Amino acid sequence: MESDSNDPAIFSKLLLGPGPSNVPERILKAMSNNCISHLDPDFFEILDQISENLKQLFKTNNKTTFAISGTGSAGMEAAFANIIEKDDKTLVFSSGLFGNRMADVASRYGGKVIEIKKQWGKNFRIEEMKETIDSHKDLKIVAIVHAETSTGSLQPIKELGEYLKSRDIIFIVDCVTSFTGINLEVDNWSIDICYSGTQKCLNVPPGLSPITFSEKALNKIKKRKEKVTSWYLDINLLRNYHEESRIYHHTAPVNMLFGFNEGLKICLEEGLQARFSRHQKVSKYFDDIIKSTDFSFFVDKEYESLPMLKSLVLPESIRDELRFEILKNDRIEIGGGLGHTKGLIWRVGFMGCNAETQNVDIFFKALKNYV
Ligand code: PLP
Repeated sequence: MESDSNDPAIFSKLLLGPGPSNVPERILKAMSNNCISHLDPDFFEILDQISENLKQLFKTNNKTTFAISGTGSAGMEAAFANIIEKDDKTLVFSSGLFGNRMADVASRYGGKVIEIKKQWGKNFRIEEMKETIDSHKDLKIVAIVHAETSTGSLQPIKELGEYLKSRDIIFIVDCVTSFTGINLEVDNWSIDICYSGTQKCLNVPPGLSPITFSEKALNKIKKRKEKVTSWYLDINLLRNYHEESRIYHHTAPVNMLFGFNEGLKICLEEGLQARFSRHQKVSKYFDDIIKSTDFSFFVDKEYESLPMLKSLVLPESIRDELRFEILKNDRIEIGGGLGHTKGLIWRVGFMGCNAETQNVDIFFKALKNYV
């Protein structure tokens, strides 16, 4: 039977996958305001608020901090499109699908990519990363995913940033899943370009990519011999709109930005520390219950795993297809595995407002009906 797009039941689902997460009423309400012009001074005030609030959440003083129009992948493209010049040696520490994507995107923009791959479910150790960096001369860029959504593993960004700090290397971090769910300190960790998405711990629908560029990154871009190959993502053109001169570049997705602004305010009202603690508490609550089931953790015990996304190896007694039965009957979304883990793992997310112990209880109660 065809679904009726006016049926409210379609929209009342608990999203416990790897994103999107559920969107609070406040954000939906903000998005439903009537549209105003992207060149209206009232809208510029909203853009200024967004930039200031984003700086607090990224923990940065970078002036160039705003939201790119497009999902998290647009942020990834913007990072590499702007920073890479032909044959720039680019080292990507890749521990899953999104690390692989970074390497792919970097090579499409002309980078000479060295991709260091880690087995899925394991994390890089800082000592091995330092050795790898030292073994490559003339490195221009180092890139890594903070929270690898395909596996549920967490990479040691702080230590890597400290190591790169005094080097003439641009440090790019993908924080699509980690942003506002676990600590991230752009300035203290010497990150030069950091981008995220909206549909994970921010609980804003997909469609924007918050991003920040350090002075060091902007200086490298300033010295480019050739134009940035993407017109849409050219950071200098975008800065002309987002910073003082307010020159039209493209029509900003006004209502998405209304919702995004509200999402950032919600984070700041709760406070980052309280938000991180809430994610940790829910993560521990979930892990304690999982230990008494036949599921096992996909991320090796000796490595750090994500508080907002649990990746679980399915026991023989549970078929992957059960996810779709749970979605249909219980209206709970659970994520499946990507790439070679398809059919083998589940990814269960408790992101932003969904990080509540009662959602863990709802998940296990639904599961009990089938096993
Ligand atoms: N990077 C990471 C770590 C992600 O988890 C995702 C999406 O899940 C992306 C990049 C791409 O984001 P999007 O799907 O919003 O384009």
